[in-house]
Amino acid sequence: MNVVIVANDLTLEKIKKHYYNDLDLTIKVPHAKYVFLANDCKITVYNSNKIMFQGKEASAHAALWDSNVKTKDNSIVNLSFDEAIGSDEVGTGDYFGPVVVCCAYLNNELKQKISTLMIADSKKLSDQQICAVAPKLIEVIPHEVYLLDNAKYNVAQKKNNLNAIKAKMHNYVLVRLTKTIKHKVPVIVDKFCEEKNYFGYLDYSKEIYEDITFETKAEDKFLCVAIASIIARYHFLCAFDTLSYKYGVILLKGASAKVDQQASELVKQFGFDVLEQVAKVHFANTNKVKAILNK
Ligand code: MN
Repeated sequence: MNVVIVANDLTLEKIKKHYYNDLDLTIKVPHAKYVFLANDCKITVYNSNKIMFQGKEASAHAALWDSNVKTKDNSIVNLSFDEAIGSDEVGTGDYFGPVVVCCAYLNNELKQKISTLMIADSKKLSDQQICAVAPKLIEVIPHEVYLLDNAKYNVAQKKNNLNAIKAKMHNYVLVRLTKTIKHKVPVIVDKFCEEKNYFGYLDYSKEIYEDITFETKAEDKFLCVAIASIIARYHFLCAFDTLSYKYGVILLKGASAKVDQQASELVKQFGFDVLEQVAKVHFANTNKVKAILNK
């Protein structure tokens, strides 16, 4: 799908900032100033300030910058709800460290208060940027956090799949936060599974928050979700540092071969059970660690 918008200079500056990690210098397009390759979208900025979005997520990206653009399902991606709650999770791709879910409430007044802070999807901010911004957000933004440490995660994971764990965590924070907001507001969850599965996972939950809009890439589309992801990431980073300190090694993020190596060193020093305390043991990394140790 192709979507074309025309941006003014201010919007163009914002677009440049937003996608600057995705700048691609290898592609030459005639009459184009910049080409960005975001995950599912190629974005070409022409000298004329016309911007072409191409790919599966073209309309979702274009809708970020032009409110007239409709998304695939024909609903306008509304970046400017007067108020809303957004919910997101982090840590699910990292072998070490907890899973953290956060939901955050935002309205126009709060938006004003945080207008000077640099806010983007937490995946686009460095750890230092997260640590600079998050404490200020935590101070002013009503939010709820659920941090599931590795020991508890590993127990839960034996009975639940990852999406079930996520659903229960999102539900937990949403039930709590919506109770503190006296009236009903839109709730957006960054979509990680089909809606009917989400509620299926909650079948035996005591209380279920039901009125939810599930959006893919919601952290790119909704400020309240972006804020939730930043606060969640901040808690993840703090817990990660605590683990690093406790085991005397600066743990690595992600799930790469270097992580396997580091985990095998930890096992040599502290025994195999250490993984239950620091890692998500159902990851394929655990078998790779065993293979390293059996060499
Ligand atoms: Mn997410």
